[in-house]
Amino acid sequence: MNGTLAQDAPVGTVVGAGRFAPSPTGDLHLGNLRTAILAWLWARASGRRFLVRIEDIDRVRSGSADRQLADLATIGLDWDGEVLIQTTRHEAHMAALDRLMADGHVFECYCSRKDIREAASAPHIPPGHYPGTCRDLSEEQRHIHRERLAALGRSPALRLRAPATTWTVHDELHGAFTGTVDHFVVRRSDGVPAYNLAVVLDDAFQGVDQVVRGDDLLSQAPAQAALAYALGLKQPTYVHVPLAVNADGARLAKRDGAVTIKDLSALGWSVGDIIHWIGTSVGVRSARSIADLREALDLEALRAMDQSPWVVRAPSGSVS
Ligand code: GLU
Repeated sequence: MNGTLAQDAPVGTVVGAGRFAPSPTGDLHLGNLRTAILAWLWARASGRRFLVRIEDIDRVRSGSADRQLADLATIGLDWDGEVLIQTTRHEAHMAALDRLMADGHVFECYCSRKDIREAASAPHIPPGHYPGTCRDLSEEQRHIHRERLAALGRSPALRLRAPATTWTVHDELHGAFTGTVDHFVVRRSDGVPAYNLAVVLDDAFQGVDQVVRGDDLLSQAPAQAALAYALGLKQPTYVHVPLAVNADGARLAKRDGAVTIKDLSALGWSVGDIIHWIGTSVGVRSARSIADLREALDLEALRAMDQSPWVVRAPSGSVS
């Protein structure tokens, strides 16, 4: 099971990469650590490189990225090459937006949230989707809207001209997954590239061909893959893994008790104890280290993993 090349890649081909891409919004909790470990296991078991990217283009909590990286190192995860900080890619993101614009894959959107809410209540629009208001405006209409926004000190957002209404991705755990593709925002009205654009560009830039992440993002995958297509990029294989939840079935959060390495260490837990707990949740009863998990789980075992959420009953006594 300890092969060094991707199982589906003949010897001599370029080996792809998996990745873990946390947003630096706080300390990693047990659910995040479990996703990171699974991403590492999937990459290593399929002979891929494993990369880490800090996705800091939206909300950032100061010091959080460094603590997240320290926690990944503490549990024994190793990664290949430098950590990529997403905001350092700003120019590449902007250049890609220019390309999308030149190729007619995006359109300017002048709508406010209220405009969208009102227009989107039309019966033929899927819930939450963009109603298409600005998609087919004439150049003259665009000009009028631009002037109107400029007078308000605002600029237009850019939306993807969706290449199809639905898109199918391949997920190792969910099989062929088809979802709707909206005309979603690729550049926000404040000029900042949208997360959905950055993630697609950065995965391609880093050579990521295996995206392992929480299954809350499964519904985003078809839209991201459609955008990759519009950008002429290869679509990755996906592995959307179950999230950790609390005893009530709600997504695990800091208030659920001691859920971070720092909290658990303060209660006397060792790293081995934490790995053992996470290991049990993926069906391995005897692991005390990442190497033990690697030994116990090959690709076949990873594919057969239980797909229900991990119910965490955290010890009380969070110290943070
Ligand atoms: N940065 C995202 C998060 O922390 C993950 C995005 C991804 O893995 O594609 O939720």
